[in-house]
Amino acid sequence: MEKISDIKTLTEEELKNWLKEVGEKPFRADQIRNRLFCGQVKSFDAMETIPAALREKLSANFRITSLEEAKRLLSEDGTVKWLYRTHDGHHIETVLIPTNDRFSVCVSTQIGCAQNCAFCRTAKMGFIRNLEAGEILEEIIRVNWYLEETGTKHSDGSLAKVTNIIFMGMGEPLNNLEQVHRVCCTLHHQKLFNLGRKRMTISTSGVVPKIKELVDRNTPCCLAVSLNSTNDERRSAVMPVNKVWNIAKLLEATDEYTKRTGNYVTFEFVLMKGITCSEEAAKELIRICAPRRCKVNAIVLNDGDDPTLEAPSPEEIENFLEIVRKAEIQITIRNPRGRDILAACGQLAYNTTEGKNKC
Ligand code: SAH
Repeated sequence: MEKISDIKTLTEEELKNWLKEVGEKPFRADQIRNRLFCGQVKSFDAMETIPAALREKLSANFRITSLEEAKRLLSEDGTVKWLYRTHDGHHIETVLIPTNDRFSVCVSTQIGCAQNCAFCRTAKMGFIRNLEAGEILEEIIRVNWYLEETGTKHSDGSLAKVTNIIFMGMGEPLNNLEQVHRVCCTLHHQKLFNLGRKRMTISTSGVVPKIKELVDRNTPCCLAVSLNSTNDERRSAVMPVNKVWNIAKLLEATDEYTKRTGNYVTFEFVLMKGITCSEEAAKELIRICAPRRCKVNAIVLNDGDDPTLEAPSPEEIENFLEIVRKAEIQITIRNPRGRDILAACGQLAYNTTEGKNKC
């Protein structure tokens, strides 16, 4: 195993094995992980329940990497966006989307992105590096700290905690599957975050072999696929990944996913004026969805940097939804959140040339 330095990145088993190697009891793994993920512990010294000798061994072998808050923005609709600086001086963004009793966190999985989708701002950053599991988990831990600090409560009066994770921030999660898998397993752990499979959604631009790997690994999560277009020519024009794995190959992979896991796939569908929001596209979408157990989540295009792409009018959107609904396809429309702070889908980016966040 490659040496892992951030202790949060380790799986339970890896930590237990390390403890055995250094002559410690494996049950300490639970205590350590509880302090890391459920407490506000930022150093090994602060782990009071751990004997001093073990704390020393831990600090000699691992670090607790930390994200540094560079900016926090609050939207009119309650959405919160953080800009974090990583230990090596890069930047990522995390978004908290509160809706009644649901506290969803949209996490980044990579610094930048290599997929180069025409409508997405992250693409303009290029790809810098994968985030480690520990860094992704830190995005979530910090939201829990924020909820605690602000005294946010669930409707039953209990302290609010993150309830849902969407892997839809910066990056292509399936291009960082090893780390994302680790994150999901830690989030799923009953004694830690205790998040059920249905509360975590990985969204992919369509990295076909990795969809198969996700099933093989039995990663506890749901799958959303950014279909965004119904024919290859149009999809390739806005999503270069389609030139490698076209729609037929993508559907073959999602069909296999459904067959092997018994779960639905959600197709995300960005509505772009004259491109994907047309009567013809609605009919093609029906042809794709009618024979499948799936759901469609339509997303109205948020402002990006490409002036040739426009959001459709409310009438065009309604017309599109009406056609799809008539065919009894389950379709929902994503309520745009945090647009005023550039926290909505496809708006997360860090403009390195200007040296500051765009907003
Ligand atoms: N790389 C992954 C996850 C990040 S994008 C993926 O492609 O799925 C998360 C979602 O936001 C995707 O469905 C994507 O198609 C959508 N999206 C990207 N840019 C957008 C924009 N400008 N407006 C609306 N949705 C956008």
